[in-house]
Amino acid sequence: MRISVIGTGYVGLVTGTCFAEKGNQVLCADIDATRIEKLNQGIAPFYEPGLEELIKKNASKKRLHFTANIQEAMESAEMLMIAVGTPSDLDGSTDLSYVMSVAESIGQHMNADKYVVVKSTVPVGTCEAVRNVIERVLRARGVNYKVQIVSNPEFLREGAALEDCLYPPRVIVGVENDETQQVMLNLYRPFVEDTSKILFVDIFSSEMTKYAANAMLATRISFMNELSRICEVTGANIDLVKKGMGMDPRIGPHFLNAGVGYGGSCFPKDVKALIKTARNIGSELSILQAVEEVNQQQHDHFFKKVQDYFKGQLEGKTIAMWGLAFKPGTDDLREAPALRLIEKFLYYGARVKAADPIALEGARKLLSFESRVELFDSFYEALNGADALVIVTEWPEFKGADLNQVKASLKNSVIFDGRNIFLPSEMEELGFDYISIGKEMGL
Ligand code: NAD
Repeated sequence: MRISVIGTGYVGLVTGTCFAEKGNQVLCADIDATRIEKLNQGIAPFYEPGLEELIKKNASKKRLHFTANIQEAMESAEMLMIAVGTPSDLDGSTDLSYVMSVAESIGQHMNADKYVVVKSTVPVGTCEAVRNVIERVLRARGVNYKVQIVSNPEFLREGAALEDCLYPPRVIVGVENDETQQVMLNLYRPFVEDTSKILFVDIFSSEMTKYAANAMLATRISFMNELSRICEVTGANIDLVKKGMGMDPRIGPHFLNAGVGYGGSCFPKDVKALIKTARNIGSELSILQAVEEVNQQQHDHFFKKVQDYFKGQLEGKTIAMWGLAFKPGTDDLREAPALRLIEKFLYYGARVKAADPIALEGARKLLSFESRVELFDSFYEALNGADALVIVTEWPEFKGADLNQVKASLKNSVIFDGRNIFLPSEMEELGFDYISIGKEMGL
């Protein structure tokens, strides 16, 4: 199949590459010409394990191409996939301007009947709006091509995106007729051993499923974070509670980690968007409002642990920070808890020495104007002379750190672990003050 993917971000580039890997002819298009230039040299614009190799492989086989010429992308394919960003507007609703601008250009450039697949995360009813825009522009042009609209939300996880895309646990497709269903089935059949993993539903349900899934995951995180605060004052240990809960097959072990609160490019905006969608129809999603509130509180709660340790005196202190990306395996800094924490440390007069294995380039762009923030490739260097270490992202290399070296480099032997990557008993034995999440100090 000839597919044009519009938008070469985390979703568009990964899915486009994976469709090429399965033998389709894929043209990835973006309005960002620099990004396309880099892609044409085989350079991925962001870090995702294995992606650059797969891009190079498929480009060399002439199945994967890149262009900044949107018209060419729209004309040359039978299927157009919309994978542009859908950020939050100021009021929490979804900014659909990128999606709608693509819809306008599809209308302007469409030269035959086409399948238009919406991969971006969009509120229920958006696919219909996309089709209406395309048809309006087609009418204005005096042409009458058929638009087969499909909702096909993406569930990949940054850091494990290729695996998720090549071996999806499930594919959700919203279609309007059997013919489109067959086309989508043929497209996804090479990705699944068992086609029952491809769920065909109506378009509205497909759009809603994406938000429902992200909202559920965010709910689990906030639920555990709230419980972790109870654990801290009652003597229970959140990690043991998590283990016990997770052994129940009705609950399952995933997404039960207490921490510094969720971040990233999806959960914060998608939770907000669903709350807003409900509000627009006169309904309040009280559970999700609490999920958001608990998430904000959790960032503050973690910060307060540091502040309290230093008796409210952060002025002049130097904080070493391990981890900037919102989670391991990615360089994505969107809504990263580390950035919020840095802001707070600076506000209270501290300096920050931060290290991250992958996200430094992006962090430099965001923080270069901040004279009180230093960024380090080596996570040991970031410790030198620091008053405390704060762990914000659970990169595997941090787990294997030489703790004696950590102790020797820090001015005070204190670690605030926002991801519970170490065992409190071992840390105590090593002589650290170890303050983690959901455990009484010293547990
Ligand atoms: P992104 O911001 O990384 O990339 C979007 C890309 O679209 C950018 O390169 C931008 O230049 C390009 N673009 C914008 N307008 C364009 C236009 N008119 N024509 C061509 N290109 C255009 O976004 P992302 O993280 O890939 O997310 C895309 C969508 O997928 C969002 O709706 C997001 O919620 C959803 N999603 C993201 C993830 C994730 O982990 N990042 C996972 C699942 C779903």
